[in-house]
Amino acid sequence: RAHLARIEAVDGRVRAFLAVGAEQALDAAKRADADRRAGRAGLLCGAPLGLKDLLCTRDLPTTCGSRMLENFVAPYNATVVEKLLQAGAVILGKQAMDEFAMGSSSEHCAFGIPENPWQAGRICGGSSGGSAAAVAADECLASLGSDTGGSVRQPASLCGVVGLKPTYGRVSRYGLVAFASSLDQIGPLTKNVADCALLLEAIAGFDPRDATSVNRPVPRYRDALQAGLAGRTIGVPTEYFSAALDSDVEKAVRQGIAVLQDLGARVVDISLPHTEYCVAVYYLIAPAEASSNLARFDGVRYGYRDPETAELPELYSRSRARAFGDEVKRRILIGTYALSAGYYDAYYKKASQVRTLIREDFTHAFQHCDLIASPVCPRPAWPIGATQDDPLAVYLSDILTVSANLAGIPALSVPCGFSAEGLPIGLQLQAAHFGEEILLSAGQALES
Ligand code: GLN
Repeated sequence: RAHLARIEAVDGRVRAFLAVGAEQALDAAKRADADRRAGRAGLLCGAPLGLKDLLCTRDLPTTCGSRMLENFVAPYNATVVEKLLQAGAVILGKQAMDEFAMGSSSEHCAFGIPENPWQAGRICGGSSGGSAAAVAADECLASLGSDTGGSVRQPASLCGVVGLKPTYGRVSRYGLVAFASSLDQIGPLTKNVADCALLLEAIAGFDPRDATSVNRPVPRYRDALQAGLAGRTIGVPTEYFSAALDSDVEKAVRQGIAVLQDLGARVVDISLPHTEYCVAVYYLIAPAEASSNLARFDGVRYGYRDPETAELPELYSRSRARAFGDEVKRRILIGTYALSAGYYDAYYKKASQVRTLIREDFTHAFQHCDLIASPVCPRPAWPIGATQDDPLAVYLSDILTVSANLAGIPALSVPCGFSAEGLPIGLQLQAAHFGEEILLSAGQALES
């Protein structure tokens, strides 16, 4: 009830929620309370949570921030949603996002732009912007978002909360509306690292319904929290601290690294030589896969159908022309072009080859360190509207996050300070595949 009241009080300004399921939430809270009284409290008993609006839910709409799915209600719950419910969580509602998770500012949401709770008129990052803003504004205890090229970590960083992208395969994507299938992962956005460990523990694990989920036991992530940093080596990649980095961001992140060093970690310089190709590779692979995944939105099987046409080809084109926003169309065009006959080798194949080199950069780096520390986003939250006519500038701001998705490794964003203007700054920690425990123990040390 307190969280529902908080949503009522502040969401008119924050605009984090697209749908609130108050009745279902109160029923779930009653059930959780009964379980608790009966000594059957689950891991997340009674925890009021939000969901990015691309996780399928049977009881609430799943719009993906798009007119295309404005009235879509999924016939089933995503595996992560089922797991949250089994753990006793209370789902408050669905949260604003860039349309189909394409963006870094949540300005590409068809139903209104969420605003950064720290400063009016600023973006809250994206694409899981509503989910990060809701946690920062106390509208929910934590949220689940998705991260294809930074969409959990970047909004977490810009809103001053914790965000984790797990290892590719760690969490089932069954019921996550797909953006780029070789990159997508679901991850928690929380107020602190301990909550992040709990949420990950609840949602991780093998799922026969997701062929990419890995059959490997789920550790008690909570137990990793106290492990500390003694004996750990932290690598600092020179390529991540370029001249383009905002000076407040650099200062806060370097201070954070110094704190990790004071706590017992050894800090070494490392190199990730293919960093300069990450954005180009990502912006071929992600749109290519998106163009294929979004082919299902044809006006027949799902979502918006143009009411005025009878001929099938025209029905497809008019439905898609009317219901998709500009950024989604741009990605579909780029992706379709890159995959078209005659261009496949030059673009998708070449990008996949360079992707292997990027992954190998990490394999080499992790022979010399346990963790890689860097900023999350090159600058703090920018003003809403500032990058409207410059998609390339926004794509370039993903430079520090997309490589974890290309390599499939886990990465955590933890708050580490503020800019001179009082905007939050996040520090990113990356680890080798299935190194979530190392990330959580370092994150916890930094936080405390
Ligand atoms: N900003 C990146 C993009 O626009 C990443 C988005 C994401 O992780 N979903 O594609």
